Amino acid sequence: NSSTTTSGLTFEIQPSTQRKTPQERAALLESPGFGNVFTDHMVTIRYTEDKGWYDARLEPYGALSMDPATAALHYAQEIFEGLKAYRHPDGRAVCFRPEANAARFNRSAARMAMPELPEDLFVGAIETLLGQDAAWIPTQEDSSLYLRPFMFATDVGLGVNNPSRSYMFVLIASPSGPYFAGGIKPVTVWFCEDYTRAAPGGTGFAKFAGNYAASFLAQAQAVEKGCDQCVWLDAVEHRWVEEMGGMNLFFVFGSGGDARIMTPGLTGTLLPGITRDSLLKLAPELGIPAEEGRISTDQWREAVASGELTEVFACGTAAVITPVGAVKSNQGEFTIGDGTPGPVTMRLREELVALQYGTREDTHGWIRSM
Ligand code: PMP
Repeated sequence: NSSTTTSGLTFEIQPSTQRKTPQERAALLESPGFGNVFTDHMVTIRYTEDKGWYDARLEPYGALSMDPATAALHYAQEIFEGLKAYRHPDGRAVCFRPEANAARFNRSAARMAMPELPEDLFVGAIETLLGQDAAWIPTQEDSSLYLRPFMFATDVGLGVNNPSRSYMFVLIASPSGPYFAGGIKPVTVWFCEDYTRAAPGGTGFAKFAGNYAASFLAQAQAVEKGCDQCVWLDAVEHRWVEEMGGMNLFFVFGSGGDARIMTPGLTGTLLPGITRDSLLKLAPELGIPAEEGRISTDQWREAVASGELTEVFACGTAAVITPVGAVKSNQGEFTIGDGTPGPVTMRLREELVALQYGTREDTHGWIRSM
């Protein structure tokens, strides 16, 4: 056993004695899918009001043992993040904007009355895990190591009037293959008018577990209607487009040299995606003006019909950029453009992927060696 120190905290390193062999690992990395395969290790850090963050350790990936009265299991005080580690052509293991995930993690924590985790501990946990498990970063095209940091309430007891006073932070990692195995395929989306994801004053901007629990029924409805994903609308008027289940939305107006992109503004009820933020900064450098705005479901339908709205795409860490080809709703259905991936969508996708995988120069300081 050894240790490394970050943010005044010493990570105890307890390497697994049952690591997968290089052959076993290679077999698992062949077509890992998404979120099914896990690396040899995990990082855990504990927190109490008295001690602050303590007991940081890297240990073999394995089950957590919990008292049945653990607060997180009853009152859902749980937040998480999602980001990726990539293997660059120069051999470095890197992450894309991990500080942005650390900052969002802390905004989520504040909303759920949980303690903030210092940014260097968040990043240090990733460095510590990759220190042991970097060989799990897949090297095939469009593959990466998905990182899942999360934090949950560990007080034991059913008192519901106060937040927990103790927490556990955990980091696990899961190799993931190309999101679109058979080439990029546009999705069909469903305007969700029966359920709402987030209300003003609620938890929509937080990466809070309960937001996802509340979304599964709507997602199932979208699938029942023959769609891939549901589009969330605002909770007050049920007409302003917010986002999708795990991705933000962008609208492309015009075409050729006149194309510009717009994404719904951060009203507090949608997740401030890091891919979204990156595209708002990247697109103007490519000559594509980008703005935050708003669009209603009627405006979406009408602008597609008039030809003004030429492309729509969704963006997020998992799939990077996904074209939206068609829309279905209680008012009928329509196709966007000819239903195939548009040029602006594909251009932005190519640029962002090149940046993440290290074949385009990182002029923003978004790539961090791990
Ligand atoms: N919206 C929701 C609800 C999400 O869960 C995600 C994934 N984190 C996103 C948008 C996209 O965010 P990011 O680009 O940071 O992955």
